[in-house]
Amino acid sequence: MDMDSVELLRQLVQNPSPNPPGDTQAIATFVARQMQAIGCEVRTVAPPAKPVALNTIASLGEGEPTIMLHAHIDTVPIAKNEAGKWSVDPYAGVVQDGALYGKGSVDDKAPLASMMMAMRDAAGQDSLRGRLILVAAAEEEVGGQLGSKWLADEGYLPACDFIIVGEQTANRVAISHKGVMRATVHTRGKAVHATNPDRGINAIVAMARVIEALHGYHQRLAARKHPLAGSPTCNVGVIEGGSTANAVPDACHVMLDRRMIPREDPLQVQAELSEVIHSVDVAPATVSIDSFVHSPWFDSALDSETGRTFLSCVRHELGGEAGPVGYLPGSDAKHLTGLARGDMIIFGPGSYEVAHGADEHVVLSEYQTTTRILLKFLRRMLYHEQ
Ligand SMILES: [Zn+2]
Repeated sequence: MDMDSVELLRQLVQNPSPNPPGDTQAIATFVARQMQAIGCEVRTVAPPAKPVALNTIASLGEGEPTIMLHAHIDTVPIAKNEAGKWSVDPYAGVVQDGALYGKGSVDDKAPLASMMMAMRDAAGQDSLRGRLILVAAAEEEVGGQLGSKWLADEGYLPACDFIIVGEQTANRVAISHKGVMRATVHTRGKAVHATNPDRGINAIVAMARVIEALHGYHQRLAARKHPLAGSPTCNVGVIEGGSTANAVPDACHVMLDRRMIPREDPLQVQAELSEVIHSVDVAPATVSIDSFVHSPWFDSALDSETGRTFLSCVRHELGGEAGPVGYLPGSDAKHLTGLARGDMIIFGPGSYEVAHGADEHVVLSEYQTTTRILLKFLRRMLYHEQ
């Protein structure tokens, strides 16, 4: 095991960056110094709306192809019920039984460390053909609006021929994930005293019928399938209504979460949801839907020369298990689609299932494999090595 790379990962874990609050100044500065020391051109930038959410962008070489390595530097915070469950200090970077433990160790500091090792390798070459960019992004764990989306919208990131978004794919090549549509449904009725409920209009009873219809819609969605991302879903997650048992409630609200598979049109999905709720006979109550918020899906074809080269580098290490696969959680990839002239993939060590809990860890051999694959790929793409 290369102690250098373990030490680098340990130091990233030792720079805590829980979000909230999302203060990434220490870790972004650490990454910036490391990249400056190897000769990269480095910028650190933060959105005016959240000056502590510092991002680092490091660049080597110029011209084409342009390849982006992207990892987020914020982590989820340590949850209240999680604090007592850690068997080691979550910010020490303890190595035990071939794994490095710590908050953010696998999500997303191991992919970041592999990418930093790749930058170091590239910086040591005299003849770099093309441009290599490392983006260490803030705000991913809260949706990326003030992180990667802001960086892309403000022109801090160039168009790229290939983008690697570091997340937990067990080193498989992931090329799609679902998007999310959130919305709120309201039913309105008429409040009266519960001694004579028939004089009123019960908004909760009306909503019960709407919820049944939404569940039926969820079941019908199973017929739609994406080969890697699975089926769309519709979940009613929150219900509110009424204030006391002795009155007929005049209002009820539910919040729903509709997962979209790649190629689903968000406007079409909104129209479907509207159609579903209006197909229910709730008269004389009324029903409406609003507060639509969506985050996009992501999908890549992996049909470029560069994409095939990456896949072959992964196959060299993992054989037939290389992928392509889908990725269940969302990622910052959704904010980068506008920059991708070629393929974009999600790739990194470990599983998202160990990512957000106590004793988060990364198996060092898997982390080392990630680094090896990145080095092999970049050598083939940027330094003419076959
Ligand atoms: Zn992540």
